[in-house]
Amino acid sequence: MNHYDIAVLGGGLAGLSLLYHLERARKMDGRKILLVDPEGRKSAHDRTWSFWEKHPGPFEHLVYHRWPAVTVHNDYREVDLNLAPFEYKLIRSTEFYAFVNDVIDARPEVTRIKGFARDVVSEGEGVTFRIDNAAYRADTAFSSIPLHLPPGPNKDYPYLDQHFRGWFIETETDVFDPTTAALMDFRTPQEKECRFFYVLPFSPRRAMVEIAIFSNRHLQREEYDRLLADYIREHWTTAPYDINHTEEGNIPMTTYRFPYRSGNLIYIGMAGGATRPSTGYTFFGLQHQLREVAQRFPDTAPVAAWPRRHILYDAILLRILEEGTIPGSDIFVNLFADNPSTRVFDFLNGESSVLEELKLMSTMDILTFGATFLKEVPRHLVA
Ligand SMILES: Cc1cc2nc3c(=O)[nH]c(=O)nc-3n(C[C@H](O)[C@H](O)[C@H](O)COP(=O)(O)OP(=O)(O)OC[C@H]3O[C@@H](n4cnc5c(N)ncnc54)[C@H](O)[C@@H]3O)c2cc1C
Repeated sequence: MNHYDIAVLGGGLAGLSLLYHLERARKMDGRKILLVDPEGRKSAHDRTWSFWEKHPGPFEHLVYHRWPAVTVHNDYREVDLNLAPFEYKLIRSTEFYAFVNDVIDARPEVTRIKGFARDVVSEGEGVTFRIDNAAYRADTAFSSIPLHLPPGPNKDYPYLDQHFRGWFIETETDVFDPTTAALMDFRTPQEKECRFFYVLPFSPRRAMVEIAIFSNRHLQREEYDRLLADYIREHWTTAPYDINHTEEGNIPMTTYRFPYRSGNLIYIGMAGGATRPSTGYTFFGLQHQLREVAQRFPDTAPVAAWPRRHILYDAILLRILEEGTIPGSDIFVNLFADNPSTRVFDFLNGESSVLEELKLMSTMDILTFGATFLKEVPRHLVA
């Protein structure tokens, strides 16, 4: 049996981030480490990670574009937000994978295997698994192997998919303002769901335009494309443009209590509940969580990506969206319109004080949110 001190199963965002933070915390020294991923050394442009942040983050030099301002729209309200002291930042997977993989490959302690880790089981003081026909054992394993949850509705926890498809377009004339991103633009028929566009301009002629839908009913690819084409024509340009790259995916939005660990098998990334349930954003919370996990290692006590009370707030919001009690287009646009942007972004990053949270809640539909709170709180306590 091949033996390692640490096995990292999954070399996507979470696995690579963990190894990076372990390296920076000098926790690799003298340890035998295994990294397993079926895609090997990842390099593709398969993700664009955006997040808002007040201070320089651990991958500041990889930021591909940053926006000091964003807009939020629905059919009858337009909100222009100056984000200071925040910035909205974007890191492309291409630069992230290249940089972190180089850091990892410079460390002789790390062995890579291209393959699927299977039969991953916590056993006694360690974790066993197989890759092809070979058996492996690690004292501690960190797994970000995707976990497939049954889609909602579920009475114990709300569940909505955030399914999306985006185009990276290039126009022939100047169309965009590269200092301002459209964070949520709800100007499209909502079809009793929560549907919005997201526009990230990189230059006056280049932008990513994405449609995101919070619902458990996915569309055919042609339907996302039709919505994207209509939106660009109605709100940005009627002139021809090129589509240079596309991105699509699905992010489960749920307050399902993801297991943190089973013995010395520790779940990280989306599979470990690092995705903020109400937004699908993961990058920011994950970096903070994994930096602390690395600094504390070999102590493996749980470190939450998001504060527990924020998960309760998210359960309330998700349940309202799931049941369609208040349209998402009203909730999100009013949230930004009726609060200072710092309060909203601190809240969404899980960094707000209870006082600021109470002020934010006082701007919401108190009756609906209060009634949903009373229903969700017992489930939250027992879950
Ligand atoms: C297209 C897209 C865009 C996103 N944009 C944002 C964004 O802007 N901001 C944000 O905060 N979040 C975003 N997210 C959400 C989240 O940040 C990403 O999904 C992120 O990649 C999650 O990290 P992860 O490590 O959990 O999963 P992944 O990055 O998907 O990594 C999981 C890894 O496990 C590997 N694997 C699978 N099976 C096995 C196995 N049996 N053994 C070993 N390895 C295995 C896979 O090959 C993969 O490399 C986005 C998600 C997607 C899909």
